[in-house]
Amino acid sequence: MPPTRATSRPGPSPPEAANRRLGVLLPLPLKGPYDYRVPADANLKPGDFVAVPLGPRETTGVVWGQGSGDVAEAKLKPVAGRLEAPPLPEPVRRFIDWVAGYTLASRGAVLRMAMSVPEALLPPKPVVAYGRSQADLEGLGLRLTPARKRVLAVLADGPPRPAAELAREAGCGIGVVRGLADAGALETISMRPAAPFTTPDPARAGPSLSPSQQAAAATLRDKVAAQDFSVTLLDGVTGSGKTEVYFEAAAEALARGRQVLVLLPEIALGAQWLDRFKARFGATPAAWHSDLTRGQRRLTWRAVAEGQARVVVGARSALFLPFAELGLIVVDEEHDPAYKQEDGVIYHARDMAVVRAQITGIPVVLASATPSLETETNVATGRYDRLHLPERHGGARLPEVHVIDMRRDAPPRQRWLSPLLHAALAETFAEGEQAMLFLNRRGYAPLTLCRACGHRLACPNCTAWLVEHRLAARLQCHHCGYDTAPAETCPNCGAEHSFAACGPGVERLAEEVAADFPEARSEVVSSDTIRGPAAAEALVRRMRARDVDLLIGTQLMAKGHHFPHLTLVGVVDADLGLAGGDLRAAERTYQLLTQAAGRAGRADRPGRVYLQTYVPEHKVMAALASGDRARFMAAEAEDRHRTGMPPFGRLAALIVSGRDGARVEAAARALGRRAPTEQGVTVLGPAPAPLTLLRGQQRWRLLVKATRESNLQAVLRRWLNAVQTPAGVRVKVDVDPYSFV
Ligand code: ADP
Ligand code: ZN
Repeated sequence: MPPTRATSRPGPSPPEAANRRLGVLLPLPLKGPYDYRVPADANLKPGDFVAVPLGPRETTGVVWGQGSGDVAEAKLKPVAGRLEAPPLPEPVRRFIDWVAGYTLASRGAVLRMAMSVPEALLPPKPVVAYGRSQADLEGLGLRLTPARKRVLAVLADGPPRPAAELAREAGCGIGVVRGLADAGALETISMRPAAPFTTPDPARAGPSLSPSQQAAAATLRDKVAAQDFSVTLLDGVTGSGKTEVYFEAAAEALARGRQVLVLLPEIALGAQWLDRFKARFGATPAAWHSDLTRGQRRLTWRAVAEGQARVVVGARSALFLPFAELGLIVVDEEHDPAYKQEDGVIYHARDMAVVRAQITGIPVVLASATPSLETETNVATGRYDRLHLPERHGGARLPEVHVIDMRRDAPPRQRWLSPLLHAALAETFAEGEQAMLFLNRRGYAPLTLCRACGHRLACPNCTAWLVEHRLAARLQCHHCGYDTAPAETCPNCGAEHSFAACGPGVERLAEEVAADFPEARSEVVSSDTIRGPAAAEALVRRMRARDVDLLIGTQLMAKGHHFPHLTLVGVVDADLGLAGGDLRAAERTYQLLTQAAGRAGRADRPGRVYLQTYVPEHKVMAALASGDRARFMAAEAEDRHRTGMPPFGRLAALIVSGRDGARVEAAARALGRRAPTEQGVTVLGPAPAPLTLLRGQQRWRLLVKATRESNLQAVLRRWLNAVQTPAGVRVKVDVDPYSFV
């Protein structure tokens, strides 16, 4: 579909107009802008969206600047026209260039994230609304049925509206509305579709803040008022009111006519967050996440560009929206690994949010109860400021944390809850309070094996076991989505009914609890049972209404939620995240379990947390039990400092993949032979990736380790330019990797 376009802006023609050329960046995986000729009468500026020919088609791009001159004059094609849309603001263009330079992605690929809804560049699709026509009803000789009368009555004291809405309000079918229009009593008008958000009012009163909240809010307000780049860590225990405090900063930005972006790691957080936003600002903010419909995306993208959307709350991709008046960015739960984008352009949204703020010259607030070591280190070196909220709001106490040594207090065979945790559950139910069992494992069992021959059921496309989902009666691969019915006979030895489920998932826990506490109303919460924000919201309401006694959940439930009657949290396998060679395993486990523990006792009733572990002496368990975060993080910092690991050194991973294992290995070895030899740069590998097979692709890895002083991107660029990648093999660059599989 060729884009409709506005006529070019009239303007004074520069003298060299006839030959003018401009660089136009296209949202395609191209290194840089392409040159196009600009018609003499066109007045195009950097940032303008333009239609340009590309081969036989026409496509949309953005004027990026002067042409490079590398296309011969005779071959130069003309820009077809400018689109009637606000230009892409200069800070957004600089941000795109910066992200491409840092991640080694092509600029066009980054632009594509900023142009994720191309149809938003077209004039908004109007909706048809019905209003009362001028015609005199008697003159029309209209038969006035009761339904028709109701429609006319609705319109008598209201604006025109779409047929469906009108029919709903009048309590009749759409046919009645259409009939009135056909008879001439109603006329149709084109209207802009209604936006899925409303305008926040920063002048509404918020809750009265405690002295420490007030002090933090005042500092943030000052930073927003200064309209200058700054990074502030809002560091407060779970339930300390960080959200209320950064709402004050948002109010300041809004009052100054600026837009606000709030990034959240998981949109399941959304329901309660939206309620609180509504209470504070009397409005619904614009949302940006993967569950939006195409139409909602189109409206929202356009409204952000035109400035009608004042506050956007979104997942990491919201960072690439075309804000023209951005005045504040908040990154809530800044330590959350979900901020790392692992596909396409690989970037860390928290780090890029800081860059976006720096380029725009505005403050950014990073909020967390368990800040990342990266952020802690930036605070320690004075690059970031810290604001501290030391207590839970309203005198709620942090929960007591008990470590259960599973070697001594073991559950019975084929059971997963130790007697201590079992007893705590019984007490909690007896008192009519709520509990949560946390296990970061979807499904029934993570491994199924044949008792006769020991064969393990594995994914044909990945180096991974198939996970049994008993509720759905399926075996699934959590990496590629492969899904199959459970087999009757072992594919290896042919034994019948020989399969045994090994280890627990949330479904299996539910089975154990149902057997032991048949009266308790429990719910399994994972991405299998809670699909989308509406389901999350419904669950939150059931919890608050105390229709649920026990949540059995994965990390989906660990974050953000505030349940006043939840007083017990049991972490079923506290060791789960500690295995493997991930350099952040301890830090992440500490953060995740602190979050999960933080769900307990958030109101006037004190909470308790039980951690089931086979390594009670582990530093993570000790830190959780003592609550001494500073000591734990200092020890982490020392480890990473000693080994030159981030944030004290820099890392980049190269992932070599393809269908043909031999070719992939050859390509990885070729890269290894040309590995950079600069001072301060070490290359580890090539070696087969732990996930050797993923979605049918063979994988090898190399890891580049460099000092902070080295120019990692320049080293990588030189290296990759020197080695030809054979056909059928892909080399993915992951700067600052968080995943090592
Ligand atoms: P955090 O984000 O630090 O975990 P929240 O902002 O979610 O903390 O606050 C925890 C709970 O306390 C929320 O229900 C919030 O509405 C409430 N709260 C925090 N500060 C205040 C305040 N000053 N007045 C009233 N309620 C508050
Ligand atoms: Zn798979």
